[in-house]
Amino acid sequence: MKLESEIVHIGVRTDEKTGAISTPIYQTASFQHPALGESTGFDYTRTKNPTRQVVEEGLARLENGAAGFVFASGMAAITAVLMLYQAGDHIVVVEDCYGGTYRVLDKIFSRFGITVSPVDETNISEIEQAITPATKAVFIETPTNPLMKIADIRRIAQLCRKCKVHFIVDNTFLTPYLQRPLELGADIVIHSGTKYLAGHNDLLCGVVVVRDTALGEQIGFIQNSTGSMLSPNDSWLLIRGLKTLALRMEKHNENAQKVANWLIQHPRVKKVYYPGLNGHPGKEIHESQTSGYGGMLSFAVDDSSLVPVILRRVKLLQFAESLGGVESLITFPARQTHMDIPVEVRERAGITDCLLRLSIGIESSEDIIQDLAQALEGD
Ligand SMILES: *Cc1c(COP(=O)(O)O)cnc(C)c1O
Repeated sequence: MKLESEIVHIGVRTDEKTGAISTPIYQTASFQHPALGESTGFDYTRTKNPTRQVVEEGLARLENGAAGFVFASGMAAITAVLMLYQAGDHIVVVEDCYGGTYRVLDKIFSRFGITVSPVDETNISEIEQAITPATKAVFIETPTNPLMKIADIRRIAQLCRKCKVHFIVDNTFLTPYLQRPLELGADIVIHSGTKYLAGHNDLLCGVVVVRDTALGEQIGFIQNSTGSMLSPNDSWLLIRGLKTLALRMEKHNENAQKVANWLIQHPRVKKVYYPGLNGHPGKEIHESQTSGYGGMLSFAVDDSSLVPVILRRVKLLQFAESLGGVESLITFPARQTHMDIPVEVRERAGITDCLLRLSIGIESSEDIIQDLAQALEGD
């Protein structure tokens, strides 16, 4: 089955008793046992719940993995993956990763003896040099947030295989509709499902999909032991949101490309970061491993004093954190998503006070461009 059909049919034909088209919400904590030693396959919702199982299996199929898990947030998913490691272990992480990923490593997992080296993921030899005998994983995002740098998933996968370390990809920005890292050699895929997968700026959730069943057993054990799974109701909302993923991603792609093309010719815009633009240094690699450029882009204006003006003047675009929903949002990474990254790391990566990030929604591209045009006029 083609991916768009697979997406729409998540949870279809799960209720044999009634034939309900929509997956039932099993809003129960516990399950009755028919008799001693007998089971329906379910006993307690922390361990397994039918609604959650539907979306976990569906996401595993979309990412082409052995097993999938859904969590209460993207950070809960990332935390569950990091719990695979222990004191003395070392993780190589992309330097302009999601701020929350950096924070949980730097402020929480450091307390448990896990160390981290930030790297520029576009530089394979920098990654290779950062790997030590203590290294257990390389953790990347591609495109990165917010600078839209592109990592070569195949080459990093080869390196990780050679060094016998896990290769983890946060695939939030593109979703399995546009990029499937497990097929390119990654071991673990993570999502903030809050973003494109759920897609409507109304739900927090996280996803982990793993390449093999052994890793699946470990993540399942961590999920059940620590209890950060997604509720039955929210699992249903995620299924509901996912149904239109293919349509939404097509529109996000189309709109973002138009906005990028428009921004790049604007006199107040110094630079546009979007892999769909000619001259983007990662364009070729991106095209070799995805089927679209996605709905995220960033741009730098010529003067940092213009930033607060734009954020005040936008009308259709909403000045808010988050991304990946149907509504267009504008974010100021240096003060919002990436505030917890130390200034020197942030500035080295290029996340300056002139940089704005756009999550392009599915409105008319003409309206989005018109709004940006009037905001960029300044006061
Ligand atoms: C939002 C986000 C996260 C964190 O997800 P939450 O659902 O907010 O906990 C992780 N990675 C990326 C790339 C994100 O954009």
